Amino acid sequence: TLELQSVTRRFGPVTAVDKTDLAIEQGEFFALLGPSGSGKTTLLRIIAGLERPDEGRVLIGGREVTDLPPYARNVGMVFQNFLLFPHKTVAENIVFPLRMQRASRAHRDEQLKWALSLLRLDGLGGRYPNELSGGQQQRVALARGLIARPALLLLDEPLANLDRELRSEMEVEIRRYQKELGIPFIYVTHNQEEALTMSDRIAVMRNGRFEQIGAKTEIYTNPASAFVATFVGHAN
Ligand code: ATP
Repeated sequence: TLELQSVTRRFGPVTAVDKTDLAIEQGEFFALLGPSGSGKTTLLRIIAGLERPDEGRVLIGGREVTDLPPYARNVGMVFQNFLLFPHKTVAENIVFPLRMQRASRAHRDEQLKWALSLLRLDGLGGRYPNELSGGQQQRVALARGLIARPALLLLDEPLANLDRELRSEMEVEIRRYQKELGIPFIYVTHNQEEALTMSDRIAVMRNGRFEQIGAKTEIYTNPASAFVATFVGHAN
């Protein structure tokens, strides 16, 4: 579904992503784990089309998208701070990606209905973000990420700002949506516990490179280096 070929991104003297190859399979929950500054967000932004790689190629569904803008990539995104528009209603927030794609009114309405129902937001479409709970706001962000029926969903520490209880609830929910939809989710986190609970496969990043990629059990029981062992072994 997604393929990265030798992708590199530099910022001045810093190589944020260093000749990275990756192949994401249909329907897998993939966690991108690594310490602060290891390049996780940059890699996600390259996949989303928010950042251009200096070298390398990005393919989605076998089609090269390296030079395509975000809205032409069929990729959904959910970020840490949700970034909901405060002056737009829940419904307007959710259909925003379809507006960017100039979808018809009928299509927007139909998809909105689907997304509100999937994310258990029925009846809340007319509210404003500040009239929702943290969990509901998070589900609005997810609905927005999914409304265009993307080929894959990118999530950048989506639960980082939630309290512990809500966080574990949302971990289970997000995982359930992924199974239901059957599309790959790429989930950036620096939280080892979260990666181990939620994912099928984990990549551990360090200095712009993958230190190890593998099934979560493999990463946990058979770490390829002391760095991985230390990083995965210590919950924060
Ligand atoms: P965190 O967990 O803290 O979000 P991260 O693993 O997502 O970190 P990135 O944000 O991808 O890491 O950053 C990787 C490296 O690239 C860091 O050294 C960072 O300072 C640098 N970097 C990222 N974006 C920029 C930018 N726009 N300009 C300059 N340097 C940048």
